[in-house]
Order: sequence, then C-alpha cells, then structure tokens
Amino acid sequence: MIRGGEVYAPEHVGARDVLIAGERIVQIKEDLEAPRSLGVQVVDVSGCRVVPGLIDPHVHVLGGGGEGGPATRVPPISLTDITLAGVTTVVGVLGTDNVTRSAMALLAKTKGLRLEGVTAYMYTGSFHYPPSTVTGSVKRDVALIDEVVGVKTAVSDHRDSQMTVQELARLSSDARFGGMLGGKTGIVHVHLGGCPGGLGPVNDVIRRGGIPVSQFLPTHVNRSPELLEQGMDLVRRGGAIDLNPCEDEGDTISDVATLRDGGVDLTRVTFSSDGNGTLCRFGEEGELVGYGVGKVSTLVEAFRAIVESGTLPLTDALRLFTGNAAEVLGLPGKGQIGEGMDADILVLDGDLKVDKVFALGRLMVDGGRAVAKGTFEP
Ligand SMILES: [Zn+2]
Repeated sequence: MIRGGEVYAPEHVGARDVLIAGERIVQIKEDLEAPRSLGVQVVDVSGCRVVPGLIDPHVHVLGGGGEGGPATRVPPISLTDITLAGVTTVVGVLGTDNVTRSAMALLAKTKGLRLEGVTAYMYTGSFHYPPSTVTGSVKRDVALIDEVVGVKTAVSDHRDSQMTVQELARLSSDARFGGMLGGKTGIVHVHLGGCPGGLGPVNDVIRRGGIPVSQFLPTHVNRSPELLEQGMDLVRRGGAIDLNPCEDEGDTISDVATLRDGGVDLTRVTFSSDGNGTLCRFGEEGELVGYGVGKVSTLVEAFRAIVESGTLPLTDALRLFTGNAAEVLGLPGKGQIGEGMDADILVLDGDLKVDKVFALGRLMVDGGRAVAKGTFEP
C-alpha cells in the first residue's frame, strides 16, 4: 500500500492510499485499512506526489549511433537507465543503422527488458526502406508479435532511403492493416530529419486518402520552428506529434508554450527522450569534439521544467509524459493511476524529483536509488 501521497491520475485526485496486488492497482481510497491478514507492506509517501510511471515512446534500447564508425555504436541500455528516470514503459526503436543491428535483436532486447521488470514495446522497421522486420513483413510483425506496436520509418533526412510517396503509403497501409488483425493501433512512427521536406511526405500520403491522419506519430517535431508549425497543423487535423526535450530547458518550455498558445489539443502531444542514441558534442568553433549518449532522464527533467516554469499545470504536463502516449499508441493498462490499471507508479518528492518507482507492482527505485538491477548491472 502506497499511503498518504497526493495522487495525480493524471487528474488531481487528492490524498489517497493506493493498494497494489501483484502487478495491478486494486483499490484507491482515502484512509484505506490495510488487510493485516494478507501481510500488506505499507510505504508511507505523505508529502509526495503519486503519479503514473512515465512512458517513453522512442528509446534506442539496443543503442543508437554508429554513423561515426564502429567505435561510435552506443551500447544497449541498462534497466536502471530507465527506472531511475521514472520511466516504467519504453518503446524501442532501431536508429539509422539497420546493417549491424536488426529488428530481431531489438525484439530480443525488448523481451529482456520485460523480464527485468519494466514494460517494453518496440516498432518494427527502422530508418530505411525496405523496412527491417522480424518475420519479413511489417504486416505480420504488427499482427502477430505482442511487443510490436507499429512501424518506424524516416523522412526528410539526409540519411534516409528517399522513399517515394507510394512506398510510404504502402508501409503505412501494412502497419495499419497489421494493427487491425492484431487488435492494435499499428502506428506509423516517423522520424523527421532536418531536410526542407519536413512533414510533406506524410501529408502527401494522407491527401491520397485511405490512411487516416491518426495513423501517424511523427517525432523530433520540435527540431525547428517551421517543423513545429507543420506539426501543429497535423494535430489540428486530428493527428498526433512527438516532441523531444531540448538541450536547453528554456527551448523545451518555449516549444510547449507555442503549442499551448496555438490552441492545439495537448492530449495529442507526446514527449520521448530519444534516449540511448548518440549526441554529437561541438566545440566553440562548431567542430566535433566528441560523442555523448542521450539520456532517458531528460524526460522527467523536461516535465519538471514545464511545471516549475508555470507553462502548464501539473496535470496537463503529466499527460504529455504518460496518458497521451498510452492513448496514441494503444497501450492497455498504462498511463493512468486507476483501479485495475497496471501498478506503474512514480513517487515524486517535493521538488518533483524521482523518489520511488514501482514497475508492475515491484519497487525498482527507493529514495532515488535503484533497488532492482538489470542482469549485468553491478
Ligand atoms: Zn531516435
């Protein structure tokens, strides 16, 4: 029982006790009586906020990078890189490298993370076309593999496959129909590069008819003001967009303020960390001085910045990192604190820092320290 915290489900519920049994939340009530006969363990979190575990819909769980040669391939992610960041659900992606990395390896890593205790999904496909898949077909991957929520692809990037509109339409249709057979959304997750085309290819596919705007979740939409404008237009037509935290928190805050002031439906906006991919480090003259690794923890930092700056109320900010992704991707049991939902719970201290993390009912982080480790973590 998580006792006495201020529950945000994401909507503000008030001070409640949350009873977990196994992997689920079974009861949420004021002053719950702990059934002693069951030997209930009580965790007092008074003074803290109890919120859903964060959902990160774009993480390079296998490691991204490699474009600077074999020494620049990022190693696979560790369990605690995820849990210490308050994240309880990740969706894995392949990045630009689909030569030395495969959809099969991504599926194995996704299964591994599940066994280590968090919820993990993946997109089939990668940056390139024809897509990398597990079964040889996007349609079959989405229809038959539990872990696969949809397909990833890339447009308007100098490293992409220069797909034709016809090819993007075919790929989207395969994901959509696979989704219908598998009872999923079959989302098409589109990496947007920095080339001038922007969202153009996606809009071309939507204009042809047949594939609804809601099928797409383009990402890196706040790469530039122009792209963000195109993204807002997509949301106004019923689409959804994914943003990344910027290196400078002020830029993240300003992007969210632009969405808020533009009157777009903020429930159609998600945030992902793009974690565990490469970050190029540049010197004062703009020269490449080294590589870093993107962190999943940028997500909770962005959340805190959005709330502390007063850009959005806590509940609205929380949705960008929890419920919206569950809704857009179709992740059952996720993104909300409610009876019958998965017991993915994040306890934030007074400064909105990660204090405790429960993933599927199991305590992973306590007092900001990892108490559950991945297989190869010391
Ligand atoms: Zn990425």
